[in-house]
Amino acid sequence: MQNIVERLLSGDRRALARMVTLIENEAPAARRYLAELHQHTGRAQIIGVTGAPGAGKSTLVTRLVRELRRRERKVGIVAIDPSSPFSGGALLGDRIRMMELAGDPQIFIRSMASRGSLGGLSTSTRDVVRAMDAAGYDPVIIETVGTGQAEVEVMRAAQTVLVVCAPGMGDEVQAIKAGILEIADILVVSKADRPGSDQTVAELAMMLSLDPERHRYDKTQPHWKIPVLRTSALKHEGLVELADAIQQHRAYLDESGQLAQRAQRQVRSEIESLVLHSVASALNQAVSPAEWERLVAEITARSRDPYSIASELAARLGGFLHDGL
Ligand code: GDP
Repeated sequence: MQNIVERLLSGDRRALARMVTLIENEAPAARRYLAELHQHTGRAQIIGVTGAPGAGKSTLVTRLVRELRRRERKVGIVAIDPSSPFSGGALLGDRIRMMELAGDPQIFIRSMASRGSLGGLSTSTRDVVRAMDAAGYDPVIIETVGTGQAEVEVMRAAQTVLVVCAPGMGDEVQAIKAGILEIADILVVSKADRPGSDQTVAELAMMLSLDPERHRYDKTQPHWKIPVLRTSALKHEGLVELADAIQQHRAYLDESGQLAQRAQRQVRSEIESLVLHSVASALNQAVSPAEWERLVAEITARSRDPYSIASELAARLGGFLHDGL
């Protein structure tokens, strides 16, 4: 019998589903399998889709995937659902939203709940993306609500980031200003059939022109001009242009050497988050709830200080860390 790694590499969906479950459960075997898969990864274009809740992301992704299928791409989707603390709930939510894609063997959808410890979400998302990549899915789309730091961190694992804005959500543009804009490669004004889309396009174009980083133009370097595209899922508009822009961005990344640069940066941040995650889980294992309670009481009663306790616990982590890695 072939093992899970071989079956996954040959495109077996059940092996991929099993692998994703192992990753989500943080099973020790998952890392061993992923280590074996590593050399077979790096082919897929990883697309991040983010924006406020209700911006139209799921609808857009569904339509975009259809367009990509028309181009005979085999598409993986990782949907991160903040609304549910349980992956069971997230799965159900997604089944409803993306139901029309289910049943196509060339599409693999998985949802993940946005819970977990420091670095946990970005680590498990990256691992799931890697498993899909190894199984031959290209592109792999990560969809998430772009509000929290954890989600921004997840987006850093993507090569091409789409930020989705719906017209008439004034505060949304503000939210984007607050941090997501700097990671955007393509801006999408969704629901372009609605009034106010011109204004949203104009506001975004204005923000881009005000951003000096984006304005820097070095003639010796290929330059990516962030496009502001409109789409309407209702009227089936703008999807061909969006799929084209995604493809152009990939070509730009390849030609400019940016793909390699981003990959290098990501390797370092991946190792950092793997280590942080191990430290967080080692700490959980090393200190029982009762001991936490006692330590907290001692510190608040001023009979002990947090610094000496932290050094003491750090010294204790060694054995647990080894298990975690
Ligand atoms: P998400 O929370 O960002 O994933 O947003 P959804 O994809 O769930 O969409 C939120 C709401 O906007 C739903 O009621 C959709 O039917 C609606 N919607 C999505 N795309 C469009 C569109 O192109 N035009 C219009 N008029 N409504 C849309």
